[in-house]
Amino acid sequence: MERILLVEPDYKNKYPPIGLMKIASYHRGKEDYVEFYKGKAPYTMIAKFDRVYVTTLFTFYYEITVETIRHYLNYMHKDNVYVGGISATLLQKKYKKDLKIDNVIARQLTSSSLLGYDDAVNIDDLPLDYDILDDIKYEYPSGDNIFLYTTRGCPRGCEFCAVSKLEPRFKDTNSIINQINATREKYGDKRNILIMDNNVLYSKELDKVVRDLNAVGYINNTPNYIGV
Ligand code: SF4
Repeated sequence: MERILLVEPDYKNKYPPIGLMKIASYHRGKEDYVEFYKGKAPYTMIAKFDRVYVTTLFTFYYEITVETIRHYLNYMHKDNVYVGGISATLLQKKYKKDLKIDNVIARQLTSSSLLGYDDAVNIDDLPLDYDILDDIKYEYPSGDNIFLYTTRGCPRGCEFCAVSKLEPRFKDTNSIINQINATREKYGDKRNILIMDNNVLYSKELDKVVRDLNAVGYINNTPNYIGV
């Protein structure tokens, strides 16, 4: 059993770290111990873990993010520190150079081999682990929702937009009914659904997405709210 520490730097964030929630599902599926921390954990805590994953968000949070990663590198071998997420994808070379580390992942976690495991799990397709949010005091303004992707990527390729780098291929994702039911079963129902797509309106499956949402109880003219 590995002991896994998931870290989000101590910046403000409206949404919980979806990538870390998927990594939590992956490791819990292997019966590893998983804990989430926001900011710089004390050394006495870090020393109990085998591996740290640090997520990154906006590029304007670069300084606080690098400072946080350096903190963990002070106490853990660089081969056991993994950095991923939006800013890491956009500034991969800079993170590697400034921090002198190799494990900066600049893409979606479509295979666990990117994390050095040989079980070939598509971590990006795993359900979210909402339990990690109970490990921290920080409350995400939009934390109490079911988060869904119905598509990834966007085919438009607008010059000013980073989506083509973050999610280069546009595709429909796995069944949203299964995603919602699995979340409800494990974590209880939530009043709202937040659809995190870049461009759900481009999906050829849009009618089906709406029908599926209706089928699981998210219906127009009810108090439920579907945020896109
Ligand atoms: S997500 Fe929006 S801004 Fe980005 S490429 Fe697609 S349409 Fe353009």
